[in-house]
Amino acid sequence: MRIVQSVDEMHDLALSWRRQGREVGFVPTMGYLHRGHTTLIELMRARSEVLVVSIYVNPLQFGPTEDLTRYPRDPEGDAAKCAAAGCDVLFMPNNLYPSDFRTTVSVRDITTRWEGAHRPTHFDGVATVVCRLFGLVQPTAAMFGEKDYQQYTVLRSMARDLAMGIEIVPGPLVRDEDGLALSSRNVYLSPDQRRRALSLHRALFQMRAMTDRSAAVRIAAGLEAIDSDGVDYLAIVDPDSLEPVDIIDRPLRAILVARYGSVRLLDNVAIG
Ligand code: AMP
Repeated sequence: MRIVQSVDEMHDLALSWRRQGREVGFVPTMGYLHRGHTTLIELMRARSEVLVVSIYVNPLQFGPTEDLTRYPRDPEGDAAKCAAAGCDVLFMPNNLYPSDFRTTVSVRDITTRWEGAHRPTHFDGVATVVCRLFGLVQPTAAMFGEKDYQQYTVLRSMARDLAMGIEIVPGPLVRDEDGLALSSRNVYLSPDQRRRALSLHRALFQMRAMTDRSAAVRIAAGLEAIDSDGVDYLAIVDPDSLEPVDIIDRPLRAILVARYGSVRLLDNVAIG
């Protein structure tokens, strides 16, 4: 596995692969890798000639009060995990943006609700960094985890709207053995918070198992089952538009964010 830290070196490599007509798979991350990330890397490995993983904690997607400086990092451990999962090139730039960077990529409508309502600048930051990473890596396909379901739909819209010619592939949400959705932020949880957070996936799976067609009834049951310091949202939405629905009559998505102290945990399941 080759480790690339320079933006120019990454771009030169990508252009040489493009000239050779290689199928380049890409998995962007912010590092502190867990089995959720390595599962995506292994899945992309199986369908790519060349596999690139990036690790970059993107300042643009953090709000002013968020955890950018204390975001967990483990570059050596991450490199070992990437190599073991079959990564060819690990792109870990120290700085991704030129000092006079002027562009923002903004996806409308589906970014205003849910995560967007709680983190107003977040999806502009995500779309902008992924757009720049796509330009540098020139992938034919990129995988994003359904763990961040809204992020996956936003990036799929971006790639389609801008005719990027990059296939956006969803990766399955990977859970810990006890069912908690794996997240780099789980390290911030106290043992008691982590135990209470098990109520999140239980609530979602309970909502999924119910037969009532009313979204409101299932959401009320889910809220009842959650033990947290506050639920930012629990909704049943159309899987493409992310608009809330009233009646569960087709494949939909139940999406959830709950707080434990200052930690926000995301989870979701397919429903209906
Ligand atoms: P992050 O490092 O948190 O930005 O995540 C990088 C990629 O890994 C994103 O596409 C995430 O959706 C994905 N990811 C994070 N956690 C999980 C998980 N538990 N299961 C599947 N994919 C995940």
